[in-house]
Amino acid sequence: MITIKSEREIALLRQAGKIVYKTHQYLKPFIKEGITTLELDHLAEEFIRGQDATPSFKGYNGFPGSICTSINDEVVHGIPSNRKLKNGDIISIDIGACYKGYHGDSAWTYAVGKIDEEKKYLMEHTEKALYQGLEMIKAGCRVGDIGYAVETYAQKHQLGVVLELCGHGVGTNLHESPDVPNYGVAKTGPRLKEGMVIAVEPMLNIGSPDIYMLDNDWTIVTEDSRPSAHYEHTVVVTHDGYEILTGE
Ligand code: MG
Ligand code: MG
Repeated sequence: MITIKSEREIALLRQAGKIVYKTHQYLKPFIKEGITTLELDHLAEEFIRGQDATPSFKGYNGFPGSICTSINDEVVHGIPSNRKLKNGDIISIDIGACYKGYHGDSAWTYAVGKIDEEKKYLMEHTEKALYQGLEMIKAGCRVGDIGYAVETYAQKHQLGVVLELCGHGVGTNLHESPDVPNYGVAKTGPRLKEGMVIAVEPMLNIGSPDIYMLDNDWTIVTEDSRPSAHYEHTVVVTHDGYEILTGE
């Protein structure tokens, strides 16, 4: 069942989303050569807790970190560690925060120092693919419309769409119905109504869309070891569009 959130719930989801956005902004200046992903994790956790919220990912199905830190060929679910960022890396940081029982969820990919043209291209077009998907959202649209828009855009730019992972509903649970795949057929799938809250999150690869999981049982990496990017916003469906909850 896809729940429709009340005004009161949307107000809380807006606050949770704002905390996630502010955590991204807080981390940005620290994303530099030499910092470890565990240091970023601690900074994020401290910041989130300072906003009267808790990191949604900490302990989620046993995940050890407060945020996910996925570098270069790591697609998602990178575990914060003593690995140091290097000039030329890209890092996808996925942040979830829970405020008064309601979650916000947003991922963004950042450049570390000077990155090559290929990584720039990947980041630019994965972010644009997110907005292509979001632009389909309004009361009455179908989940397949979103996936179709993301996939069509990615294919046009020769990027591999990760098929095994998808967006989702957001509310009192971090992951709720419906699944929001980054592929699909327009005018198919569940119909969205005003007041539904979903996270749209394309994960696109420079090379093959194929992925596998590392032995740590969490981190997903690309099969061909080429870079991957991840952009995600949590949004509420409105009468004639959508409102980004994890933005400014
Ligand atoms: Mg996320
Ligand atoms: Mg998500």
